[in-house]
Amino acid sequence: MVEHQLRGRGIRDPRVLEAMQKVPRHRFLPNPEDPAAYGDHPLPLGCGQTISQPYMVALMTECLRLTGEERVLEIGTGSGYQAAVLAELAREVYTVERFPELASQARSALEELGYGNVHVVVGDGSEGYAEAAPYDRIIVTAAAPEIAPPWVEQLEEGGRLVLPLGDRWGQTLVVVRKQEGKMAQESVCGCVFVPLVGKHGWRGE
Ligand code: SAH
Repeated sequence: MVEHQLRGRGIRDPRVLEAMQKVPRHRFLPNPEDPAAYGDHPLPLGCGQTISQPYMVALMTECLRLTGEERVLEIGTGSGYQAAVLAELAREVYTVERFPELASQARSALEELGYGNVHVVVGDGSEGYAEAAPYDRIIVTAAAPEIAPPWVEQLEEGGRLVLPLGDRWGQTLVVVRKQEGKMAQESVCGCVFVPLVGKHGWRGE
């Protein structure tokens, strides 16, 4: 997976490659025996949600430019896999999930693997998580129709926000930097994520 899907496609950050090598992806799946665990595609998680393709996890993580010191907020815990990758590369990770079942499964997997620096929270992540703000980095792993104002407020000066921004069926992976109170935006590539459902996202069905 690391050689072909990640390094072969241009993921260069050695710390990201090392973290992706280390985190056991199969442990975050509903069926840990799934032979497709390390395949080049997203996988179903339950509650109609998906765990992202390994390449997308690596790319988004690389875009965060983590050094090991950061406090990170993730919106959309899902399986907890992306949170584990972040936990390898940052100091503290807060991750918010709207489905309590997914949050509790993710919490168990993260605990079993000894990730004591991840805090799983149930709630509407389109409002960020003010209780532990500010954050050095924010990563949104569900498709967002807009850059939600609470994310901007909860981001440190000099911080980075990485998110799929667009409509329900297709988005652009965007990196936003907060510099001198202004936001600078850069597009990375096209992508498709499940929708962010909440106050600053879409309505639930
Ligand atoms: N990062 C995850 C995959 C995320 S899939 C992983 O590594 O497995 C997107 C997740 O975002 C889903 O679990 C979905 O329930 C969640 N989600 C959607 N809208 C949300 C919101 N407003 N707040 C928190 N989580 C949300």
